[in-house]
Amino acid sequence: MAGRIGLDPGHGGSDPGAVAPDGLQEKEVTLAVALLAAGFLSQAGIEVVLSRKEDVDVSLAERAALFNRAGVDLVASLHVNSSENPRADYLSTYILGPGGRAERAAGILQRELVLALGWPDGGVRQANFYILRETEAPAVLVEMGFLSNPRQAQALREGKVRRALGLALARGMALYLGVDPAGFSSAGDIAGHWAEAAIRRCLELGLMHGYPDGTFRPDNFATRAELAVTLVNLLDKVKAGHL
Ligand SMILES: [Zn+2]
Repeated sequence: MAGRIGLDPGHGGSDPGAVAPDGLQEKEVTLAVALLAAGFLSQAGIEVVLSRKEDVDVSLAERAALFNRAGVDLVASLHVNSSENPRADYLSTYILGPGGRAERAAGILQRELVLALGWPDGGVRQANFYILRETEAPAVLVEMGFLSNPRQAQALREGKVRRALGLALARGMALYLGVDPAGFSSAGDIAGHWAEAAIRRCLELGLMHGYPDGTFRPDNFATRAELAVTLVNLLDKVKAGHL
């Protein structure tokens, strides 16, 4: 195994977390995104320890104890923010303090999330949250936008947005562990395509990449720029003796 990630879908059971004006609950979003991220990580040979897999109560102490017992390499706690300002809409990642491995992981995750979603960058912030304080592994807490923002709450209901969040988190965690995430986005829309085997090889070799939402869209045209990038990727791999 390439590493072990502790994934913590925030809230659950009798604790809904934040609730959007339209009724969407934080506990549902965090679980859906965590299960998607876990799927991507497992495909890449990264072991995942989930603090909950369904809509149940799990105390903060139980979550921290589970991750400490499992000896995970990184803990990522997933949440969605809420604010009195209905326009607040940024992504942010919290750590206990600067200077350690958690800060490096937070920087990578934050960058992947902003790139994938295109939501405003709230940066890496510090907070004395229980899950950050009581876990032995480096720990980060991700706030995936704001449920108090009606437009963002609407987006967080969509499967493709949840998938983009799960994929961005999985990519960031893989990068933190030193695992190449290039093949992650191959899953959805190439199964059964006449060129599936060739596309999979291109993704595994890092010659081509999928779109940030996890699709490959195999029948889209490539631009001249994309062709140039693919050819240079190929040349670099050949020169480096990787092919
Ligand atoms: Zn929360």
